[in-house]
Amino acid sequence: MMPNKEGKTEKLLQKEALIFEYLYDGVIITDIQGNIFAWNSGASRIFGYSQIDILGKTPAILHKPEIASKLTKQIIQKIKTHGRWTGEINFIRKDGSEGVSETTVTPIKNEYHQMVGTIGINRDITEQKRVQSLERYRMEKALQESEDRYQRLIDSSPEAIAVNYMEKLIYINCAAIRLFGANSQEEIIGHSLSQFIDFNYTARGKKQLQRVQQQEKLIKLNGEVIDVEIVKIPSNYNGKTATQIIIRDVTECKKIEAKLIYEKFHDMLTGLPNRILFLDRLKLALSRTQEHPNYQFALLFLDLDRFKVINDSLGYTIGDQLLVAISKILRNCIRASDILARLGGDEFIILLEYPTDIDYITTVATRINRELAKPIYLKEHEIFITASIGIVVSHRNFTMHAHENDSSFSPIYNNSEELLRDAEIAMYRAKALGKGRYEVFNLTIHNQAISLLSMEIDLRRAVEMIKENPLNSQFILNYQPIVCLSTGNIVGFEVLTRWQHPIQGLILPGKFIPLAEETGLIVPLEIWILQTAYYQLTIWQQELKGKYTECNDKFLYSSPNFRCPTDNFIMSINCSSQHFSQSNLLEEVNNILPQTNYQPNSLQLEITENIIIENISLATKILKKLKNKKIRLSIDDFGTGYSSLSYLQQLPINSVKIDRSFVSKLDSDTSGKTLKIVNTIITLAYNLGLEIIAEGIETKTQMQQLKRLKCNKGQGYLFSKPLESNDATKLLRNFKYPL
Ligand code: C2E
Ligand code: CA
Ligand code: CA
Repeated sequence: MMPNKEGKTEKLLQKEALIFEYLYDGVIITDIQGNIFAWNSGASRIFGYSQIDILGKTPAILHKPEIASKLTKQIIQKIKTHGRWTGEINFIRKDGSEGVSETTVTPIKNEYHQMVGTIGINRDITEQKRVQSLERYRMEKALQESEDRYQRLIDSSPEAIAVNYMEKLIYINCAAIRLFGANSQEEIIGHSLSQFIDFNYTARGKKQLQRVQQQEKLIKLNGEVIDVEIVKIPSNYNGKTATQIIIRDVTECKKIEAKLIYEKFHDMLTGLPNRILFLDRLKLALSRTQEHPNYQFALLFLDLDRFKVINDSLGYTIGDQLLVAISKILRNCIRASDILARLGGDEFIILLEYPTDIDYITTVATRINRELAKPIYLKEHEIFITASIGIVVSHRNFTMHAHENDSSFSPIYNNSEELLRDAEIAMYRAKALGKGRYEVFNLTIHNQAISLLSMEIDLRRAVEMIKENPLNSQFILNYQPIVCLSTGNIVGFEVLTRWQHPIQGLILPGKFIPLAEETGLIVPLEIWILQTAYYQLTIWQQELKGKYTECNDKFLYSSPNFRCPTDNFIMSINCSSQHFSQSNLLEEVNNILPQTNYQPNSLQLEITENIIIENISLATKILKKLKNKKIRLSIDDFGTGYSSLSYLQQLPINSVKIDRSFVSKLDSDTSGKTLKIVNTIITLAYNLGLEIIAEGIETKTQMQQLKRLKCNKGQGYLFSKPLESNDATKLLRNFKYPL
């Protein structure tokens, strides 16, 4: 190097050193030979050497000998090519202790761009490094611990977990060992999962990265097959996809699920499909008729007759057994492909597929009733039952061979509810026509249903009217005299209701009372009847004051229990089952009675046997309370119901009315059977101290027979038809039947 140039270089280095003297970082300036030329106080603080110690020496003194020359070479190399070297350097202080610096080395160049030295700027990061490595150690330790914990967790997890890698199981936990039916991991590890589970284990590529959940069958080592749910979670393992697999035994869940599904769609008692399932099948059948015009089907809507009576009298257990027995009988009456369902209660429904013609359908209905007619034996009971069947055919062009003259009518059905409704209407028709039979839905039934609907609207209006003003009524009360068969005197009246319809004219109770019962309108209607009849009774009682001679029929009987029943004049009022059991009949009676000078034993309620049998304990309770109010109680239509002779003695009643069906047969039945029945009824009633009223006496012979059988009262066209109040009053004044 030339002297003038050398002087210049030195100046240059000194200038640089001057600049960096006050820098906090440690600055080391070396000349081109690599010897330390300048060294600031920052460097002394970091490395522990004073300027005097260090000047003229090389920076290698600051490093371990084994790395020193290599490091120097690296740095020189780098600054020559890249103009700068930056890195962390492990150094040794003067006192031998170690430290770390973050160092940047750049060249010092002269005006000719020749490198004349280097400048190294060092920041002491020893403390920072120490903290960092401590932190890293802690973190690593924590990670290790957490991994251990995780492993333990997985090992002992109740959930079966396995890892599949390259088509082989490489890990399974204890729960999985148990699930596979193995004793140790070794029995499973190394095998392919598809050996145990039969699934499409071919998902590749993109799909493999997704979590997959599927239900499969797992074959245990002992061959047992269970239902499992598998969750596959893909993960990366050495660059290849491994799959973590969670396997859950869902056999129990599946069983419960299947049971719930079954219960949702089946009737638990009979095991038959229920309404939900049936409606579903019906919808299917209906849509098939729309797609295939040749496909036809029929519905048979069955309702058991008098099931309630059997259920209430023999108990629910027998009732249930009977339903099961009937479901089996029904099943045997149809083809396997036909659908039989229980809609609820005593209602069943059948969907007959591909009926050839209407004869085929009615034959099935006939067969059902023939099979049901056979006695069913349950425990010691021999039960006879019939069903009313309503039939509806899916197709409007259905050939109605059997009813060709009938105004055949099958509308096009759009929905299953309509079909079901029409089948039900036809069933009610079958019930109304005498039970134990079938009816095919047709135009006539359709029109009847419609007129019933309009009648219901009119009835509702008529009932509203009497509620608003009891004197403004479309209903009329007729009174039929009850005659003492020994004196010929009128001893009372039965109240019979008529409806003066503004358009249709007079409607008899047989037509509107059932409708009133069905719609609940019967209760307000009968409250009005009770009030009106009672009002009429008070008028007649005035009329009769002093005039009324007591019926002296005691001579007919010698029973000590017997009280002369005609102490008072009777107003006998029919009471529907709804009014009797569902409304507050007692309260009504209370409301009516105290208002006037009511004479006890004048008001009589006629109730039918069925009301009592339907709920005997409730009926007895109500009857007792009524009796306490001095209301007379009579069993109407006696003998037609479910032989209630045995109940008679427990009931607080006053009289029985022998049904017209017996009375009318008295003079025509040559077998003497009717006579026997009537005799039995009278004797029984007589022994219980009850009064007997015979209904529907039309001929003298009937009356004579009844007198001979010691029946004390009678009613019928022979004496008088039911009359309006004015005519009844006239009759009351003058009437005495010539006996
Ligand atoms: P029911 O209680 O058995 O009434 C007797 C029915 O037989 C009455 O028919 C009566 O007119 C009729 N009858 C009376 N004597 C003879 C006779 O000699 N020969 C013939 N063939 N028939 C006779 P009606 O008035 O048509 O009443 C029919 C049914 O309607 C009654 O039968 C009763 O069950 C019911 N009913 C009438 N009014 C009421 C009422 O206010 N409430 C309730 N719940 N039902 C009523
Ligand atoms: Ca009656
Ligand atoms: Ca009757």
